[in-house]
Amino acid sequence: MCRLCRRENLKLFLKGERCYTDKCAIERRNYPPGQHGQARPKFSEYSIQLREKQKVKRMYGLFEKQFRRTFELAERVKGITGEALLVLLERRLDNATYRLGFASSRADGRMLVRHGHIVVNGKRVNIPSYLVRAGDVVAVAEHSRQIERVLAAMEGAQRRGVPDWVEVDRESVSGKIKYLPTRSDITAPINEKLVVELYSK
Ligand code: SF4
Repeated sequence: MCRLCRRENLKLFLKGERCYTDKCAIERRNYPPGQHGQARPKFSEYSIQLREKQKVKRMYGLFEKQFRRTFELAERVKGITGEALLVLLERRLDNATYRLGFASSRADGRMLVRHGHIVVNGKRVNIPSYLVRAGDVVAVAEHSRQIERVLAAMEGAQRRGVPDWVEVDRESVSGKIKYLPTRSDITAPINEKLVVELYSK
């Protein structure tokens, strides 16, 4: 996992709590992995676009096919495709579970969703790609609230805070999607135009 961050030269937050400590590999060795990791890189336009796409794809933990499908969906949304892509990625239930602080990473969020620990508006949803809507209430199922990894994730999230577009009720281990995130709610250093350029070739 840390190799992926070092490849992109950016913290992708793939390992949960560890990412927020000085054990993070990016904090320690901030150069790409492998024999030629420290060699002076040469970047073509294509490779810059490709790296950006890989970065975003890995950040959200998607395979190429899933990522491409999300991009195609974004193309059909009115407005700026790159921004629509990011918003669709943020709206995924595995991401929302992570953003609400019930999981320590998106991978962890995906696992919780897949294993039936997450309910949306009172109904169990086990599809990580499910897109949340404004007003949805996303909760950890009652029987899963004492799972150690959920408790640990919530503790970490309490220290770091949650984004403005969600609101968490720690008591009921649930959270509301106050509004759908917009581009300005996504603070990770992403240049989505490069992804659009790559796929538009
Ligand atoms: Fe990336 Fe987290 Fe590993 Fe740091 S600890 S390199 S942010 S996966």
